[in-house]
Amino acid sequence: MTSGEFGARAGGGKRIGDGTRAVRAGLPEPVKHEPALPGPVFAAHFHLPGEPTGGYAYGRDENPTWTHLERAVSELEAPGQDGVETLAFASGMAAVSAVVFSQLRAGDAVVLPGDGYQALPLLREQLTAYGIEVRTAPTAGDAQLEVLDGADLLWIETPSNPGLDVCDVRRLAAAAHAQGALVAVDNTLATPLGQRPLELGADFTVASGTKMLTGHGDLLLGYVTGHDADRMAAVRRWRKIAGAIPGPMEAWLAHRSLATLQLRADRQTANALALAEALRDRPDVVTAVRYPGLHGDPSYEIASKQMERYGCVVSFSLPARARAERFLDALRLVDDATSFGGVRSTAERRRRWGGDAVPEGFIRLSAGIEDPQDLVADVLRALDESAQVTDS
Ligand SMILES: *Cc1c(COP(=O)(O)O)cnc(C)c1O
Repeated sequence: MTSGEFGARAGGGKRIGDGTRAVRAGLPEPVKHEPALPGPVFAAHFHLPGEPTGGYAYGRDENPTWTHLERAVSELEAPGQDGVETLAFASGMAAVSAVVFSQLRAGDAVVLPGDGYQALPLLREQLTAYGIEVRTAPTAGDAQLEVLDGADLLWIETPSNPGLDVCDVRRLAAAAHAQGALVAVDNTLATPLGQRPLELGADFTVASGTKMLTGHGDLLLGYVTGHDADRMAAVRRWRKIAGAIPGPMEAWLAHRSLATLQLRADRQTANALALAEALRDRPDVVTAVRYPGLHGDPSYEIASKQMERYGCVVSFSLPARARAERFLDALRLVDDATSFGGVRSTAERRRRWGGDAVPEGFIRLSAGIEDPQDLVADVLRALDESAQVTDS
């Protein structure tokens, strides 16, 4: 059995479980006296006598440590699918930019979510400067469908960050393809164990590996996975031009972290749901609790059809900026920090960045792997303590 075959099936043709897949993803054939996951290869160039005939030559083009990681991500994003390719990048934004700038030309039109990742407005400015028309519409209600006419690329982010709205990827992808548009899905929040956009009809799945995919808050990484060889060749070419490549150490750490992805994702998902339920039970102070896996959430119905895990991010609002700041201050097990997806819980008042269109008291909370009862108790205590203004 090659490692690639392990991506999908164990003996008897039965699809193997996510935990098994994650722990074996991308591992090379075992070699006597060699480690299971070969260490990072630090090399700017490789021995290359005579004619360059493919293989590793220069470190901006290819690196064996990336190759292992890229195979692993392909096995997670598209188990059992042939011809799928993944390219690793220095960050999520490097991956996003690689798809957008390699696939679009002046005169093209792209549909972005109006409520997506906070760097999308910067991307929009750059695209517009290059003569590419940018349209936006909200993620909720599949509203991007309404501005799709004549577009060349549809960019989907579901669940959206930080509002946690969800759209129907199958429906949007079918509509986009019917009129010749490509479809890319930002899969950062869900991770490939939460949803697999290529199976839902997308041409590209793109993500930041900085968040829950690697989960320890100690590296930045991005990737693009796709199944069209020509399209992926253009993405590869862009990586060579822009040079936004991951370091071997980051790529190796990321691959090592994938082994625990299912454990982390299951625990973080369960913790997020426990927190969402506890917060919903405090309508005296908490409003607009959002979690795609919460029964009754506006995202739940579609999310439950296309997601297997709902991610670790919960959002909610406190009555005012000061109350939200006191709440964050009072938390002991949840660090006040940006980003999400790490093993240690974090939360932040999103408006401090100015970008997202959310209320002053809007909190984005990322559930870590702490014990659920400790986490819920800490959040409820901080909610109560934040009611009183203290001098300390
Ligand atoms: C963080 C994030 C990105 C950007 O990833 P970086 O690794 O920070 O460059 C893109 N999309 C979403 C949804 C994100 O949360």
